[in-house]
Amino acid sequence: MSADGILRMIEENGIEWVDFRFVDLNGKAHHISLPAVEVGRDTFVNGVAFDGSSIPGFKGVEDSDMVMMPDTETVYADPFSAHPTLIVMCDIYTPDGERYDRDPRGIAQKAEEFLQQTGIGTVAYFAPEPEFFIFDDVRYESGMNKSYYEVDSEEAFWNSSRKEEGGNLGFKIRHKGGYVPVAPADTQQDLRSEMCRIMMESGLRIERHHHEVATAGQAEINFRFDTLTASADNLMKYKYIVHNTARQYGKVATFMPKPLFGDNGSGMHVHQSIFDGDTPLFYRQGGYANLSDTALYYIGGILHHANALLALTNPSTNSFKRLVPGYEAPVNLVFSKGNRSAAIRIPVAAVTPKGCRIEFRTPDSTSNPYLAFAAMLLAGLDGIQNRIDPRELGYGPMDRNIYDLSDAEKRDIRSVPSTLDEALDALQADYEFLLQGGVFTREFIENYIDLKRAEAKSVQIRIHPHEYSLYFDC
Ligand code: GLU
Ligand code: MG
Ligand code: MG
Repeated sequence: MSADGILRMIEENGIEWVDFRFVDLNGKAHHISLPAVEVGRDTFVNGVAFDGSSIPGFKGVEDSDMVMMPDTETVYADPFSAHPTLIVMCDIYTPDGERYDRDPRGIAQKAEEFLQQTGIGTVAYFAPEPEFFIFDDVRYESGMNKSYYEVDSEEAFWNSSRKEEGGNLGFKIRHKGGYVPVAPADTQQDLRSEMCRIMMESGLRIERHHHEVATAGQAEINFRFDTLTASADNLMKYKYIVHNTARQYGKVATFMPKPLFGDNGSGMHVHQSIFDGDTPLFYRQGGYANLSDTALYYIGGILHHANALLALTNPSTNSFKRLVPGYEAPVNLVFSKGNRSAAIRIPVAAVTPKGCRIEFRTPDSTSNPYLAFAAMLLAGLDGIQNRIDPRELGYGPMDRNIYDLSDAEKRDIRSVPSTLDEALDALQADYEFLLQGGVFTREFIENYIDLKRAEAKSVQIRIHPHEYSLYFDC
């Protein structure tokens, strides 16, 4: 929609506020609201000023003035505000009118431009699949919520959760038993449906929703793929709606990758493919999982750069508590058709040439989608340009369940990093591929690593509850 279109919308719908949003390095949205009567054509030309020094990872106080430039294509009505409000996503500029090189959305757009410059294809499609938990808004009320603090084994954890007051185990979802049961076991059908209703009203195309594998409250809602930046914008909208709908129902939704020890965590698998105009480039009938060489090299690029990539796709200390064996989260750097224990899965059921895509399963929702999608595209393009063949480098294909392999068989399979620090070490050692086309700058990466190192350190210096169980009686 054009700026004039938005001004007309304000007029015709009695809009009172316009909410200008941008996204920080951690993928969190921020906003400043202007009275709609103060919004005119000049707002879309001059932008909206904000103080960049108060945003983690942005400018220092000595150089703090920043400008949000609204992207009029992204406008939608705020489903939660009591006052009619329009939300507009913005790009960040310096006061001199330059694109701000730490603006995640700008980086996503540059990645899309770089794809076109390579001549490999014209458009990349991304479909993130975020999972999340819905908890009661009263924390630490049941045995389950106390688990981390008060029990020292998985068994004790599950026993403690069974002692919950006020009922028996009838229709209570068991440990890892939450995949798609009907009500009354599934108590959140209406809440997920309401989330979907609001999402559809806000412009997202919803494909399905369901209860996920973990015990009561793990959910997944899938929305349709889109181009890279648009898909990241969609994800920001999605999270905003999930969080706020849950709050309206007296619940709290979290995308934290591993909120419960001993049960499945929440991933954000990302399906991806490249097209040249209307022609899908990942499909070749008769190849392994009907993959073209382009797709295989893309996979090669992702797996070859995976350790570094995870610093952007799994950028929290909690991310690595999810990436452990036994919970459908990938641990091993291999590709496979159908196999959920592989880092890259090729969905094969009912897939058409246009639907042919790869699913990278490590990412989670603590990632900033703009940075994560851009980085994955760059890794894949690096693979295509340098013909990185994953089969020659020992990345599969692997069609057995890797969790079931013997130790000897597992020896040759590489694993994902086991901590955020390890992923940051890998990024430090391998980030040239992100500098292609000037998409990321060296300065950006160094700043990002510093920011995340500080975050990892802040967790590391804190006393962990489990340390009491291990060491208190010494
Ligand atoms: N929750 C699992 C994960 O951590 C994935 C389950 C699924 O395959 O959808 O990635
Ligand atoms: Mg899932
Ligand atoms: Mg998936």
